[in-house]
This record gives sequence, structure tokens and C-alpha cells, in this order.
Amino acid sequence: MASAYRSPFERLKTRYSDVDLVCPKCGYDDDDGEWQAVTTGHVVQYRHICPSCGAIRRRTISLGH
Ligand SMILES: [Zn+2]
Repeated sequence: MASAYRSPFERLKTRYSDVDLVCPKCGYDDDDGEWQAVTTGHVVQYRHICPSCGAIRRRTISLGH
């Protein structure tokens, strides 16, 4: 059951790790960084902290269940 949830979740996480790692505030390209994903029920919250200026961005994705 856990593995059935894992693959779509990992795919979603990978997709967000690949895109939009450039900080909109200072323009730093956090090439080695990633969006950290936290699941709360049927919602995934992503967070990225810019290592240069410390700006925190958040995104919430509904899994649509
Ligand atoms: Zn920044």
C-alpha cells in the first residue's frame, strides 16, 4: 500500500525539484537544492528556502482525491 503511494508522489517531487529553483528575490539559482514536500492529508505542501537570501517560498498542491 505504501509503495503504491510512493511512485506518483516521488514523480511529483522530482518534477518540482527540477523546475523553479531560481529565487525570485535575489535571482540565486539553487541548482543543488530542492523543494521539500510535506503531505498533509490529500494536500502536498512544498517549501524552498533560498540559501543565498533566506527567502521562503511555499506551494500547495492538491492531489485531487
Ligand atoms: Zn534568494
